[in-house]
Amino acid sequence: MSELIESITAEQEALDTRFMLRAYQLAQQAESYNEIPVGAVVVADDEIIGEGFNQSIMLNDPSAHAEMIAIRQAGKTLENYRMLDCTLYVTLEPCPMCAGLMVHGRIKRLVYATKDAKTGAAGSLFNLVNHQELNHQVDVSEGLMANECSALLSAFFKRRRKEKKAEKKAAKK
Ligand SMILES: [Zn+2]
Repeated sequence: MSELIESITAEQEALDTRFMLRAYQLAQQAESYNEIPVGAVVVADDEIIGEGFNQSIMLNDPSAHAEMIAIRQAGKTLENYRMLDCTLYVTLEPCPMCAGLMVHGRIKRLVYATKDAKTGAAGSLFNLVNHQELNHQVDVSEGLMANECSALLSAFFKRRRKEKKAEKKAAKK
């Protein structure tokens, strides 16, 4: 019996890694547009039904987070606003808006890579995805590909700071 459980877990782990890898690729895509590198996918029956990356700056839309875009696409695919058996993979811990959206959508499971100490709403700053007063709770796993995803974010912010410094310098001339 324990062997069976282990093999299921290993299979789930392999799937989780595959989908987080896709989320990571989407985060890289965000970076190529100079957006904060965050990527997300929604999965149902081991298939991707929605994906997104951060596009707030280019869309002039503060709600255009990776999770928001992925969930909107998933809703269209499912033709349903409830995502009861879906898992959302995202490279960064969701913010309060996206965590709230997951509760509205009844997302079953959330897998995120790296914690966000500043605005994380899946355990860091708040825990909106597992709040007893709310009518839906989400299963949460965190830490998968955390190093890769946080390195992507750190490199991005480091580069942005450098660019801003250079811009200021140029403006002074
Ligand atoms: Zn968000």
